[in-house]
Amino acid sequence: TYPSDCPPDVEQLGRSSWTLLHSITAQYPESPSPQLQSETKTFMHTFSKLYPCWHCATDFQTWMKKDGNAPRVSSREEFGRWMCEAHNAVNVKIGKKEFDCTKWEERWRTGWKDGRCG
Ligand code: FAD
Repeated sequence: TYPSDCPPDVEQLGRSSWTLLHSITAQYPESPSPQLQSETKTFMHTFSKLYPCWHCATDFQTWMKKDGNAPRVSSREEFGRWMCEAHNAVNVKIGKKEFDCTKWEERWRTGWKDGRCG
């Protein structure tokens, strides 16, 4: 296996990035100010330009430009769902299973209902 103190490969980079992105949605306000909403859209836009896997970044930008795929940031619930859909678009593209987006909050914010996350 690849040593962990080496530059990340695409998979490692992806896992860390999704952890950051979903965690941001988990801590996002339920009622964000108009300014934060605007900054959040800018953040996602800039993120999609700087993501350090260039073919991933290009495809992610293309996906975000499609009808209905622009970041939805008017509440935590909306932003969390949007991020889940964005992640699912990548899952589909690379042949991974789609995640059930009704469960995003259990996975990333509250922990699972069975209590296994403590
Ligand atoms: P990951 O997909 O990294 O997911 C981590 C965990 O998140 C999962 O174990 C699961 O618990 C949870 N999860 C899974 N799906 C969802 C969801 N929809 N919503 C909420 N939680 C979920 N890789 C490529 O090979 N080609 C690409 O073009 C590519 N583009 C990418 C674009 C972006 C913007 C990002 C952030 C990553 C991209 N990746 C790409 C990386 C890829 O998405 C995975 O991160 C990588 O393949 C490792 O996958 P994984 O199986 O460890 O789980």
